[in-house]
Amino acid sequence: MDILGVRGYNLPAINDMEPIYEGKAKRLFTTDDPNVLRMEYKDSATAFNGVKKEDFENKGRFNKAITLIIYRMLEARGVATHLVDDVDDINLLVKKVSIIPLEVIVRNVAAGSFSKRMGVTEGTAFKKPIVEFSYKDDSLGDPFINDDYAREMGAATEEECLNIKKMALLVNDVLCEFFLKANLRLIDFKIELGRLAEDPTKIVLADEISPDTCRLWDVETGKKMDKDRFRQGLGGFMEAYADVLDRLQK
Ligand code: UDP
Repeated sequence: MDILGVRGYNLPAINDMEPIYEGKAKRLFTTDDPNVLRMEYKDSATAFNGVKKEDFENKGRFNKAITLIIYRMLEARGVATHLVDDVDDINLLVKKVSIIPLEVIVRNVAAGSFSKRMGVTEGTAFKKPIVEFSYKDDSLGDPFINDDYAREMGAATEEECLNIKKMALLVNDVLCEFFLKANLRLIDFKIELGRLAEDPTKIVLADEISPDTCRLWDVETGKKMDKDRFRQGLGGFMEAYADVLDRLQK
């Protein structure tokens, strides 16, 4: 038996447990607190809605460590997150939430699906950040939606959509400044939010914030330091993640 105690949470037989949920990059397990879950970061990388898939040693470790640094920093800046505590190399304790089925994307510079959809050259900076929603449903291919769709699909109320956008812009401001200190330019990122199980009126940041979910370019060279290295087969994928973690720890 591998008994791991973290600030009063007993996580028995950590290796023997069955996850209550398994996603593309993470698995969720129960703890002895019904409102707290253990989130395990996996080594798998996926792109293009799971069509491209490969395992990379240490990927879970890098993304967990980067998310932890970012969530602690955001909490200190007044942004509520699902983070409860650190556990080990690849596990965090998180508050149980019901995930709002929206992918909230903030863009500072044109790239990815924006460049493709709008025919705007990658690297074109926006005058102001763009916030957009996708409806989280793999079978539909996470379609682009607006607040009215979100309301009618029962994903979030109009008031919640407004609050979510405000929160996303605040996170963008804090992250831009934070990454810039690490000589990284925040091109765009995706966040997910959840309603706390213990109080569903409270919405907090959930999921990860890592080079899997952010586009990060080196300020001087413009080198891509994120999942685009995997999507585009550029090589040096984990080296870039290690470099991001190293810069954020300095
Ligand atoms: N993103 C993500 N998960 C998704 C879709 C997008 O984390 O399912 C992130 C992506 O890494 C990028 C930002 O959201 O930092 C904007 O992605 P975009 O819409 O350009 O889509 P992509 O080019 O990734 O298809």
